[in-house]
Amino acid sequence: MSRKKLGFESTLIHGEGFEDVYGSPNVPIYQTSTFTFKNADHGASLFSGDEEGYIYTRLRNPTIGSLEHLVANLENGYGGIAVSSGMGAVNTIYMGLLSQGDHMISSAAVYGPSRSVMEKHWSRFGVESTYVNTANLENIQKAIKPNTKVLYIETPANPTMDITDIREASALAKKHGIITVVDNTFCSPHLQKPLDLGADVVFHSMTKFLNGHADVVAGIIVTKEKAIYDTLRPIMVNMGVNMDPHQAYLVIRGIKTLGVRIDRAQENAMQIAEYLENHDKVDWVTYPGLASHPHHELAKKQMNGFGTMLSFGLKGGFKAGKIVMDNVEVALLAVSLGGVETLIQHPASMTHSKVSAESKQKAGITDGLVRYSVGIENVEDLIADLDQALDKV
Ligand SMILES: *Cc1c(COP(=O)(O)O)cnc(C)c1O
Repeated sequence: MSRKKLGFESTLIHGEGFEDVYGSPNVPIYQTSTFTFKNADHGASLFSGDEEGYIYTRLRNPTIGSLEHLVANLENGYGGIAVSSGMGAVNTIYMGLLSQGDHMISSAAVYGPSRSVMEKHWSRFGVESTYVNTANLENIQKAIKPNTKVLYIETPANPTMDITDIREASALAKKHGIITVVDNTFCSPHLQKPLDLGADVVFHSMTKFLNGHADVVAGIIVTKEKAIYDTLRPIMVNMGVNMDPHQAYLVIRGIKTLGVRIDRAQENAMQIAEYLENHDKVDWVTYPGLASHPHHELAKKQMNGFGTMLSFGLKGGFKAGKIVMDNVEVALLAVSLGGVETLIQHPASMTHSKVSAESKQKAGITDGLVRYSVGIENVEDLIADLDQALDKV
């Protein structure tokens, strides 16, 4: 787009940098696997890179390219690499930035599969990893080794909502020549811009906030510099974790309302957190917006709002958790987050039911812990829903 850089909310609506030949305000879905060449010379110059254009959708596609342009704009990065899922982003990053004999330091409370694929599979190729609580910088400092190449941060962490100072952590990494990667799924660029804070790579499961309607699985990587972009893009292409044009179209549509969706949901989240904090069947509530949260001040400084995810502990433990699950009527019983609909989950009886007591304790998963992803419904309905479910405990 040739006009000067727009504000964030305007960029959500106009940031795709796509001008349709027929004047459509929406990016069309180029549902094609391949693109025809005008003649032999045209084909030759596309392949040699002398001319910009489209060859094959796994490499580039106009609909997917518009989404990449848009999210790179939102994150203030050099370029975006759209992928088929958040895990597609994780593995593209691991493969591109780590080689045999390299070491990665990561937040301990990362999205489960991000850690298990590293410990079970990338370790088979000689990649080492150390998992620490990155909210405490000393833990990062102590874990640095001569072969450390990547610092991988997820903040706020799930379900503890621990917050890592991205500016300080990436400054520390930079001093040691380490690349900082941030999983920004829990915030989206509306709430947090890691590249502006010093990180080198940011990625999203766009399944969550960016798409926001629980109807797409998708991911994206944005890099600050061209060099890392040029490393990662061919890996996405050659591993075949590319996005589909229709998926890209839906995410572009979802992104248009990102700001208003999150603002509304986090207003709801604040009220629900306060309601739960005062409920006599609730032991504790973790929400960065509460003054009681240990990283409340850092959240205020680093984030543009406190997000829409909260967790709380029921005094009645496992049994109470199941009763709440069986009695909520507005919140949907499901995993995932960041959509317009409110979701509730009880890890001890659901996602973590097969996990050992020791691992659960390490991850901060207690028997009465409930995860709540706040949507944009009427907050009175959400509170009344929790109220009647808690009454049954
Ligand atoms: C969901 C999620 C992922 C994985 O994304 P998929 O789109 O499900 O592959 C990674 N990180 C975080 C924080 C997530 O919530």
